[in-house]
Amino acid sequence: MKQLDVLISEEKIKNRIKELGQQITRDYSGKEICLICVLKGGVMFMVDLSKEIDLPLEMDFMAVSSYGNEMTSSGVVKIVKDLDEPIEGKHVLIVEDIIDSGRTLSYLVKTLNNRKPASLRICTLLDKPEQRVSDVKVDYVGFTIPDEFVLGYGLDYMQKYRNLPYIAVMRDTEE
Ligand code: 5GP
Ligand code: MG
Ligand code: MG
Repeated sequence: MKQLDVLISEEKIKNRIKELGQQITRDYSGKEICLICVLKGGVMFMVDLSKEIDLPLEMDFMAVSSYGNEMTSSGVVKIVKDLDEPIEGKHVLIVEDIIDSGRTLSYLVKTLNNRKPASLRICTLLDKPEQRVSDVKVDYVGFTIPDEFVLGYGLDYMQKYRNLPYIAVMRDTEE
């Protein structure tokens, strides 16, 4: 049997996002930014984060696939949905749910840098550094977590649980 244990509460997420929003607002003071949400996992985070950023901003969405329904990385990344707008000359901030191996992000960074943004930074809610294979520089991290499969707050298990307002770990119960 599987059970869900809360890893990061709703309140902790809220407080941390407030801090990140303030930091981003300070760092980009006087500029406009373009938030790029990596679907689907990054949706909750981007929506809540955007409300804590006091700057003129655009939102755009991108979908890449690297995992399918499995719990381990396939190493294959492809663009399933591209951005609607060009990013040339814009200050782009990629908003991700979680960085694990780093393969998805390093591919995205390479692809988006080819489009000549004015700047390109990464903001992730969760960082799991233990399984990193691709070297990516992450500018804003919500929480660093151990190497366990997490779900909730945008993150799925077989496309479900994204609506949980907290981050949970799925563990096997002893029977
Ligand atoms: P990476 O390419 O960095 O290995 O994986 C990034 C993507 O894999 C994330 O954006 C997320 O969609 C998925 N992923 C990695 N770890 C987890 C996890 O613990 N839980 C869930 N639900 N997805 C994960
Ligand atoms: Mg993601
Ligand atoms: Mg997934």
